Amino acid sequence: MPSNLPTNKSEDRQKIGKLYVVATPIGNRDDITVRALSVLREVDLIAAEDTRKTRSLLTRHNIKCSLISYHEHNEDKRTPQLMDKLKKGVSIALVSNAGTPSVSDPGYRLIEAAIFNNIKVIPIPGVSAVTAALSVAGLPTDTFVFGGFLSKKKTKRLKQLNELATEQRTIIKISSVGIGSGFTVIAGPCSVESEEQILESARAVQAAGADMLRGGAFKPRTSPYAFQGLGLNGLKLLSQAGQETGLPIVTEVIDPRDVSWVAEFADVLQIGTRNMQNFSLLKEVGRAPRPVLLKRGLSSTVKEWLMSAEYILDEGNMDVILCERGVRTFETETRNTLDLSCVPLVQGMSHLPIIVDPSHAVGRADLVAPMCMAAVAAGTDGLLIEVHENPEDALCDGPQSLRLEDFASLMKNIKSLARALGREL
Ligand code: PEP
Ligand code: MN
Repeated sequence: MPSNLPTNKSEDRQKIGKLYVVATPIGNRDDITVRALSVLREVDLIAAEDTRKTRSLLTRHNIKCSLISYHEHNEDKRTPQLMDKLKKGVSIALVSNAGTPSVSDPGYRLIEAAIFNNIKVIPIPGVSAVTAALSVAGLPTDTFVFGGFLSKKKTKRLKQLNELATEQRTIIKISSVGIGSGFTVIAGPCSVESEEQILESARAVQAAGADMLRGGAFKPRTSPYAFQGLGLNGLKLLSQAGQETGLPIVTEVIDPRDVSWVAEFADVLQIGTRNMQNFSLLKEVGRAPRPVLLKRGLSSTVKEWLMSAEYILDEGNMDVILCERGVRTFETETRNTLDLSCVPLVQGMSHLPIIVDPSHAVGRADLVAPMCMAAVAAGTDGLLIEVHENPEDALCDGPQSLRLEDFASLMKNIKSLARALGREL
């Protein structure tokens, strides 16, 4: 056992506690040091940015330890509480969702207070987004500048980039999709149809406040004679629209052989309802360096859905986002039946974020807005909404697509409701 680990918990309590700042995996769940695992096993308490995420990491490594939340919204309240414990001899490990705490992550307030109070702060190094990005940048690395996270807001992001325009050293900036920490709206057409169509949709959803742009380039259609998507060209157009608007892009991948190259375009890989149990596809996206949006199967139980998510997690990809999109019932007035009870249910069963796609659930544009509001009230981490500049002419899923102006007014209502519920948007 490393020499500076707490050796005897009760003996340690007579003394002053130590604060361990422990780096945890970013992508592959096994990217954690042996020493970090020993510390997490031995401390009295783990202060975690998201206790559900950390619980899942601990379970994978058979570690049992008490957890307490410590994140950007409770740092002020938690810091004195944790300081009290440290002074009483409690040893604490600080972890963030991924990477090194306090480096573009919550933590520095607690560390500052510990240093001020002469509490020993011990770094347990490991995965760092900065060095990981630098190591594969293919740029000179003798000196570099770390600029932290890029803002999600376009004007702020442009300001950040302008400030660095004359910098000669290699620049490392991080961008994160971040579903689950706030509220994420993914919007766009069912499929990419043309340059004008995707650009117009992208500009409109961005202006209305969407966080990500969706658009299918490979469409899993029930009939082989229906429009199958534009394939590579569609991906290029989607990626261009994403770049122009600054929105990360979400797109479906339907074949394991396409995963690696689709991942070069997509910020998030979508697994559609028909592929929820395509285990070879799940394993392949589990090895891809991209978050995966996993739709619930047409007739799948919540347990089957969570087991499919496990296939992805088990390959090392921790960034799985679940998406409820309606299940098949005897009802024929709606395309499917939206199972909103699964939102709080899944949140109690899993640490994974869950979003709701009312468009595919109801299949009718007039029911999309009310179901979005209901999903927000049920506590969803986000929404996936289909929009089209001209739904009558859409090549796919026109009847359920919102007009761009209707999407904009829905966004206003979602924001008011979220505010009334005390939720961040
Ligand atoms: C889609 O998102 O366009 C789609 C095909 O969805 P689902 O897999 O839920 O039918
Ligand atoms: Mn669709």
